[in-house]
Parts: sequence; structure tokens; C-alpha cells
Amino acid sequence: MAIAYISHADCALHDMGHHHPEQPARLSAISDRLIASGLDMVLHHHDAPLASRAQLEAAHDASYIDEIYAASPAEGISWVDGDTAMNPHTLNAALRAAGAVTLGVDLVMQGKAKQVFCAVRPPGHHAEHHRAMGFCFFNNIAVGAYHALQAHGLERIAIVDFDVHHGNGTEDIVSDDQRLLFCSTFQHPFYPNSGFGSTAANVVNAPLPSGAGSLPFREAVETHWLPRLAEFAPQLIMISAGFDAHQADDMANLNLVDRDYAWITRRLCELADQSAEGRIVSSLEGGYDLHALARSVEAHLKAYLGE
Ligand SMILES: [Zn+2]
Repeated sequence: MAIAYISHADCALHDMGHHHPEQPARLSAISDRLIASGLDMVLHHHDAPLASRAQLEAAHDASYIDEIYAASPAEGISWVDGDTAMNPHTLNAALRAAGAVTLGVDLVMQGKAKQVFCAVRPPGHHAEHHRAMGFCFFNNIAVGAYHALQAHGLERIAIVDFDVHHGNGTEDIVSDDQRLLFCSTFQHPFYPNSGFGSTAANVVNAPLPSGAGSLPFREAVETHWLPRLAEFAPQLIMISAGFDAHQADDMANLNLVDRDYAWITRRLCELADQSAEGRIVSSLEGGYDLHALARSVEAHLKAYLGE
């Protein structure tokens, strides 16, 4: 069955200024690589819709959503956090990014795709119930997960996050909601200095020390994630797919390589085949070295194909 690739031209118009690592070129680097590799031809392309107000309110406080709309500038740049800014196109890009994940959920639940990759920005996993931070405004993966619960009647969804940064926003939103299991690997101690000592029963955090590479990452996944995921038997697996734990990425100090992303994707495909009819929706989070990002996304998608 098809792999769906969801993006939108609006996502490239969000721009936080020269030298900001979360830059529009991330998306063109990915699409260029997929075209050059020929993988692009086997993907089913979709334009991301705008997330609805109701979809956002399932994951975010209504007054917070109002604040983001109010912060959207008519011109110039408006900073909402020390490293997170809006230009006149950011609001639409953020709505497309969250909307992409809801469309991805619809496609897998309607049997129109087996796996989905949302090539979107801004990313989402640092966005909390009522706070923007870390380049994120709306929590795309959480918005999609609540859409799957509410619009499709699912009862168990796993969200896994292999970005180098802890998905504090996702943890904040889903903690103690037993319909959702959140599994995360991340460098610790490191930004945003969360995820250590979490007590929610539905949160599985596996911190990794600076310098850790493939082996500790795979051991953490096999020891901490996979047994919990198998026991939970999710009906859908959603991935916060950040690629900034790559050894070539200057943002942090983990040393993953392209084939680690293929490996984790295959493990998740096996789990999805067991309990979720193969359904996986992944959405781009971090990944700032353009070459490593593009190759890692290629490895991630090839793993969907079984390669
Ligand atoms: Zn990150």
C-alpha cells in the first residue's frame, strides 16, 4: 500500500530570520534528496489542510490559541520565546503542520495509505498545552493523536519521539491520558531539561548521555520502548521524527547515523503490523544539518518500504 507524503508550500514561508537553524531550506533539502533518489516517484503526495480550531483545542488551551493568533504579525518578526518567532506566514504554516498530521491520520484510518510522513515546519513537540517554545507553536503530533481518538474512535495510540531533544510539549499534553503511550529518547542533560524523573504511568522516557551513539540508542529502545509498546498494543503508531541526534548535526551531541533511523523505523513497522494494521504517521521535528537530515528522511522512508 501507498506511503503518503504530506507537505505544503506555506511551510516554507515561515522564516525566523537568517542564521536560524530551523530554516525553510530543511524542507527543500528533503524533497531534493527524495527526487534524486527516485523515492519521490513512489510517494503519494498530498497538500496539508489547515488544522481546525476544534482540532487545536483538543491539545491546547483556547486562550493560548488566541495568543498565537494575536501574536501573528502583519509584517516583520514577532518573538514569542527566546528562539521562536513568527513572521506573517508562520500562523498558516503552523496550521498546515498540525493539519498535515490530522490528514495523515485520516489517510491511514481510511486505508488510503499504510504509512505517512509529514514534511512540515514549524515542528511541534516542544509546544505545551499553553506555551510555545523551542521553534514550536502547535503540537502537531498531539493534535493528530487527539484527532485519531476523537474522529476515528481509536482507544490506544502510541507516540514515539526519537528527536535529540525531549518532547516536553507532548509529555505535558498527554501525561496521564491512558489512551496514549508516549515513548521518548533524548540527550540528557540538555534542552529543554525535562523528561527526567517524570512520573506519569503512560510516559516512557529513556535519557541518553552526551556522546551516546548507535548502541546505547538501540539498547534504550529495546529495553525501555519495545516491551511497553508491545504490551500496550497500539492501534496506531505516531512518530515525532526528529533527526537532530545524527552525528553530523551540530545542535546536540548524540552520534546516530542514517541506518539507526532505518533500524528504529523497521522496529516500529513490526510493532505496527502486530497491533495497528501497519498504520504509522510520522511528522518531522528537528534535524538541522541539511545533508544528514535529507539522508535520514530517505532512510526512514525506505524502511517503510522494507529496505
Ligand atoms: Zn530537536
